[in-house]
Amino acid sequence: PAIELDGVVKEYLAHGEVVQAVKGVTLTITEGEFFSLLGPSGCGKTTTMRMIAGFEDPSRGTVRLHGQDVTNVPPNKRDVNMVFQSYALFPHMNVWENVAFGLRRKKIGEAEIKRRVGEMLEIVALTGREKRRPREMSGGQQQRVALARALVNKPRALLLDEPLGALDLKLRQAMQIELKRIQREVGITFVYVTHDQSEALTMSDRIAVMNDGLVEQLASPREIYESPSTAFVAGFIGTSNLLSGTVDRIVSGSAVLRLGQEGRVLVAGDGFQVADPVAVTVRPEKITISTEEPAGDLSVVPGIVSEVVYLGLYNSYAVSLADGAEVTVFQQNALDSTSTAERGDAVWLSWQPRHS
Ligand code: ADP
Ligand code: MG
Repeated sequence: PAIELDGVVKEYLAHGEVVQAVKGVTLTITEGEFFSLLGPSGCGKTTTMRMIAGFEDPSRGTVRLHGQDVTNVPPNKRDVNMVFQSYALFPHMNVWENVAFGLRRKKIGEAEIKRRVGEMLEIVALTGREKRRPREMSGGQQQRVALARALVNKPRALLLDEPLGALDLKLRQAMQIELKRIQREVGITFVYVTHDQSEALTMSDRIAVMNDGLVEQLASPREIYESPSTAFVAGFIGTSNLLSGTVDRIVSGSAVLRLGQEGRVLVAGDGFQVADPVAVTVRPEKITISTEEPAGDLSVVPGIVSEVVYLGLYNSYAVSLADGAEVTVFQQNALDSTSTAERGDAVWLSWQPRHS
């Protein structure tokens, strides 16, 4: 493993009160992995990163880098580098000098500096821009200089704290692809902090979803999207519907929930008891909307269409259930679609049990 956090806690004293910014994080990041810390503002992402880098000492717990306990090792003795949202380039230096700065300070020979800076500028696609100053470059180019400056030191892991936050959407999307390519090319561990779920889903091998100082789920993007383990994760990642019902009966390996008079939702898993209240989440695109009651081993819930929004490839439906809950459904518009539900229609929503 490249990075191991074991029961890491960070407490601050603010106005005489103890604030827990990080409440106990345990995770392992594999060498060469693109790993993201994802969560809303204030959940403890930056504090966690700063403890990995050594800018903050944990109040409790252990930080290990490449198998070595570094909990009390200063930042400059750790084999990691950090890139921030504010690129912090030296404004009076050109691109080449900015990237070479760290190597010069380490008294590395000129020939070696030339080779390494040249190689790095090629990787971040800035060859030919060596003489430019930061203010003569776009935000995306400046961020690539900051990246080259961090990577030229050959750290074994790079920590990036919302590095694309200052860029506009289009540039950000282009840089997401760039970053992923660069990471593959240099082959080192990237730990990426973001509050943007689509960014984390696009780039990461694995994601730790954080909430209120704790990791709520740690899994691949696909698992997090398709099988969120908590209501918070489901709500934070993409659009999701939260439905609540009570266990009506238990069949082998799963429970049948009752929702209202006619709704039945199948949930896999054991440990259910009859009459237990259970909340389930289901993604809008996993639900089928039909005007007749569907047959088969499906979860089926009746409702009334309260809104239809045409979105080109998709229609988005709002469907009201008997208990007042509103469910969002995305339904692809087939080329030959003739019959679609309209506002006011009584409909049946159905989905495969594995989707909730
Ligand atoms: P994130 O990066 O996810 O937005 P942070 O790690 O920056 O979150 O902050 C987590 C929590 O810790 C916040 O409530 C923040 O106000 C608090 N916090 C962070 N740094 C300090 C500090 N130096 N002193 C007091 N509280 C802090
Ligand atoms: Mg932060």
